[in-house]
Amino acid sequence: MSKATHRALPFHFGTVGTPLSAPKNEGSAGGVRRIRELNLDALELAWVRGTTHITPEACARVRSAAEECDVAISVHATYFFNLNTQDDEMWQAGRERLLRAARLGTLAGATDVIFHPGSYMKRSTEEAFRVATERLAEIAETVRREQPSIMLRPETMGKQALLGTLDETIEWSRRFENVLPCVDFAHLHARPGDGSFNSYAEFAAALQHIKDGLGNRALQRMHIHLSGIAYTQRGEKNHLNLDESDLHYKDLLRALADFGAAGRILSETPNMEEGAIIMQNAFGSARRRSTHVTT
Ligand SMILES: [Zn+2]
Repeated sequence: MSKATHRALPFHFGTVGTPLSAPKNEGSAGGVRRIRELNLDALELAWVRGTTHITPEACARVRSAAEECDVAISVHATYFFNLNTQDDEMWQAGRERLLRAARLGTLAGATDVIFHPGSYMKRSTEEAFRVATERLAEIAETVRREQPSIMLRPETMGKQALLGTLDETIEWSRRFENVLPCVDFAHLHARPGDGSFNSYAEFAAALQHIKDGLGNRALQRMHIHLSGIAYTQRGEKNHLNLDESDLHYKDLLRALADFGAAGRILSETPNMEEGAIIMQNAFGSARRRSTHVTT
């Protein structure tokens, strides 16, 4: 796809983590420059093992590369976080990790911080949701005061044992103004474990559900994770490249185009940027055939 065409797309495409083809010794700033060379537009910094090795100087380098290359930055916060942990000390540590990701993310020019909400543990789903919501309320308020431009993005999760249904992420987003879902469509397909959530009709229903719950503000600012996926009856097993998976991603991209949705789509395939480029091209052709009338 030519540079002029892809820039006109309502979605910006990129990778979660530095592209595989980026230079090995230039860190995330080199990743930003590689994203631009590939004619992609977004990078999510994969701080999934924490931020202890991240310095403010490295963040400044990412920020200036991103400004220079016009690449949109987001941050994937640590996996070591659970809104529903029953151990208060663990909760305080997790809370601090997420806040630190938001602070450093801001220094790196990130507009969004993505996090996995946690797991139900031994609680009922209702009780876990209540505990998680109370804690998220406090975090959202703290982030709103400290980094008013950052959006917190609880991700939809692929295993039934994990907090993060589409409904839960919509409900949090209704309650807190600086919270919107990170919609991982591969996770939503894997979660029921029966191969469902894999058709145009089901993708369109999910988008309608987001629109009904959160209005156009959410549809116009979607943050999407996408990959192929392997799953069992209990949900997600592991991510796959698109062509190794049964996910009907072209139907998903068609539904997004037909809804006139916009935002970012980040590849989480093992082949990373190759997946992002496939998604970008497939979305471009879905959009050309779309029923959505652009004004
Ligand atoms: Zn994730």
